[in-house]
Amino acid sequence: MNIEILPARLANQIAAGEVVERPASVVKELVENSLDAGATQIQIDIDRGGHKLIRIRDNGSGVYKDELTLALSRHATSKLKTLDDLENICSLGFRGEALASISSVSRLTLSSKPADQSDAWQAFAEGRDMAVTVKPTAHPNGTTIEVVDLFFNTPARRKFLRTEKTEFNHIDELLKRIALSRFDVAITLKHNGKIVRQYRPVMKKEEQVKRIAQVAGKEFLSQALFLESGDDGLSIFGWILPPGSSVEPQYTYVNGRMMRDKLILHAIRQAFEESCPGIDVPAFVLYLTINPRQVDVNVHPAKHEVRFHQARLVHDFILQAVKQAAQPNQCVVSEIVQCNEQV
Ligand code: ADP
Ligand code: MG
Repeated sequence: MNIEILPARLANQIAAGEVVERPASVVKELVENSLDAGATQIQIDIDRGGHKLIRIRDNGSGVYKDELTLALSRHATSKLKTLDDLENICSLGFRGEALASISSVSRLTLSSKPADQSDAWQAFAEGRDMAVTVKPTAHPNGTTIEVVDLFFNTPARRKFLRTEKTEFNHIDELLKRIALSRFDVAITLKHNGKIVRQYRPVMKKEEQVKRIAQVAGKEFLSQALFLESGDDGLSIFGWILPPGSSVEPQYTYVNGRMMRDKLILHAIRQAFEESCPGIDVPAFVLYLTINPRQVDVNVHPAKHEVRFHQARLVHDFILQAVKQAAQPNQCVVSEIVQCNEQV
């Protein structure tokens, strides 16, 4: 048997299997990079559901010319240096894999200009070894990443792409969740040259409801119960509908990172299960804040799930908070009667 090291592109394509499932996963990684770079404005241009083009432009910190090659290499990150950093992570990214993975399964160019660098440069990776070519370009402060022809060289993956409409809907849905993770960032989404969504920045906490209404709908907001509980080490706030109401959307965030965490969902379900058995869990938008040292985000390559060090405590905290918010409310009590009758 001959043991050989895989060429860089192939190794990156294998890694891409874990994080780059469809256009929406590319958008997720790139928008998270923009947020990590401190961007306050992010513009997303999609052509043909992302099959043809995904372009993300931000006004963040940018990448210096002599770091462009590294930015496109696997295991290269500016966000993590030591194991201790990993245990106290505050950025959305840290694996240093997204750009290398995406550029191994598409034609990716990165154009960037940090504010204190006089000119802009563009980089792309070529060939089986993914050698990076860097050339001058024109670009304002910030970064644009263009992903063209996603999966052009991985036909098996390309086959799994759905219609342009379906893929675009996934992107739209993803950006709704991101829009509710960072109220202060302006986000524009265009499809085939037309503006589809425009999330204006919200700076004051009392105005967050505007964006909630934009994403979840005015009806959600008019029915929702506001929930707030906990202290510095562990706290939760957000909005939750009374049982029996609509079941969409169901969004949870842990330290600003969007999650589909089983433990959180279980706690919410249990809170309703006790008072209203058999009913579908109603819609919610909930934000959990916890000491970053009490949670491990390095569980899943796409970081959908976390591991809480004190899982039971967190579970019961959420359970109690949701129960408390739902119980004293008259409207919920009458809903409970109704749904018990239905069961
Ligand atoms: P990670 O986000 O895990 O660090 P990525 O492959 O997503 O890994 O990005 C690699 C590096 O490229 C980042 O650590 C960051 O330094 C740089 N980078 C990527 N996107 C941007 C951006 N939009 N603005 C500034 N820097 C960026
Ligand atoms: Mg990243």
